[in-house]
Amino acid sequence: MKYKVLLIEHDLSSLRVLKRVIGKANLDVISATTLVQAKTIFNNSSPESFLCAVVDYNLPDAQHGEAIDFAIDSFVPVIVITSSTDGDIRDNILSKAVVDYIPKKNAQIYEYLSRLLIRLEKNKNIGVLVVDSQRKRRSAMTSLLKRHNFIIHERSSAESLTDYLSENANIKLMIIDNDLKNGLGIDAVSEVRRNFNKDNLSIIGSSLASTAGENSRVLANFLKSGADDYLAKPYCHEEFFVRVMQNIEYLEQIELIRKTANADYLTGLPNRRHFFLQVNEHLNRDLKHKTLALMDLDFFKTINDTFGHDHGDVVLKEFSKLLAKHFNEYVISRFGGEEFCVFLPNVSLTKALPLLDNFRTAISKKRFTRKGVSVQCTVSIGVTSKFKRKIESMLMFADENLYKAKDNGRNCIVSD
Ligand code: GH3
Ligand code: MG
Ligand code: MG
Repeated sequence: MKYKVLLIEHDLSSLRVLKRVIGKANLDVISATTLVQAKTIFNNSSPESFLCAVVDYNLPDAQHGEAIDFAIDSFVPVIVITSSTDGDIRDNILSKAVVDYIPKKNAQIYEYLSRLLIRLEKNKNIGVLVVDSQRKRRSAMTSLLKRHNFIIHERSSAESLTDYLSENANIKLMIIDNDLKNGLGIDAVSEVRRNFNKDNLSIIGSSLASTAGENSRVLANFLKSGADDYLAKPYCHEEFFVRVMQNIEYLEQIELIRKTANADYLTGLPNRRHFFLQVNEHLNRDLKHKTLALMDLDFFKTINDTFGHDHGDVVLKEFSKLLAKHFNEYVISRFGGEEFCVFLPNVSLTKALPLLDNFRTAISKKRFTRKGVSVQCTVSIGVTSKFKRKIESMLMFADENLYKAKDNGRNCIVSD
């Protein structure tokens, strides 16, 4: 689903640029040039369908930030833009529950806004857990987090934290106070780290220390116990958000590296490395059945030679899409070149063969089109379900059968 952004801006040249920036973030822009217009828009559609509102502080019918209050009252996160450099106006804006404040003077505004919008959309799927024994301190944090669209979780003690985190897989960040009723946050962090490593969960320790010395002692202990970061209380909003963002972005980068390492560049399918990791996990369990299919496109070199390498790439990509669609419940991989693999855990040979033959037929009927030229291609499949503990031996048997399929005239399946 594409989210909408409500843009309330009077200045037409600024409106045009902002529309482009919001569109670049792959969001739909609904624009209004006055507060009255914005109200009409909300009357005709639910505010929940908006990711956020980007609001100019000064509008012809709302010269003192009234449009900001209107959007906040409609429960829509608000990003304020303003051409004013007046300190009082800035203070007035920051005293409201806004997501952020961006002066138009700043040359980086459009880049920054685009990043912020992408962030707000991603945050809708990210859970943050706040652990603090004091309700007032918890709600101060959660109200800030809500503005940034995070899914909020709260706990008042460290009891059963590991269970809670396991049950709520959307939690990517935990912010934990040190002074808990039943013990220290520091001890709770080292307990949680037994089950959740730094690639899956970020932790920010926090405390209200009475002296600078105590503060650095608690900070060091938090970090040694497995926290990634530390936030001293009292904190300012900007510092809070910068720390939250940095820790979330770190996890996203780790996830991206993991995905890149496991995916095939051309087709996006899991690569050989990932295939082995996944299949070995299955093989460690006792499986009643297991079936492995090795597939190789027929006369693929001819397609490259006749229609060009780019058209060959289109065939590989389209083939992969269809493979993923047909075998979405199973372990699939681009093994290399024009060779693909499917592992079907708990599926007998008898059950697997019709699935594979369906796929073979679908490929033989498909037209792979590029720039108005379409080609056809077939696939040969070697299958094994011989009971072996090692995937390497299964691959050997499947490969022997694949050779037989090629010898039998291609576009066919050979099994044990
Ligand atoms: P057979 O039916 O016996 O499998 O014949 P074939 O032509 O498919 O087999 P061959 O091994 O001779 O050729 C495979 C070709 O696949 C050669 C190689 O250039 C091409 N290929 C491998 N990876 C890619 C790729 O990423 N993109 C494109 N376009 N071609 C690739
Ligand atoms: Mg080959
Ligand atoms: Mg081939």
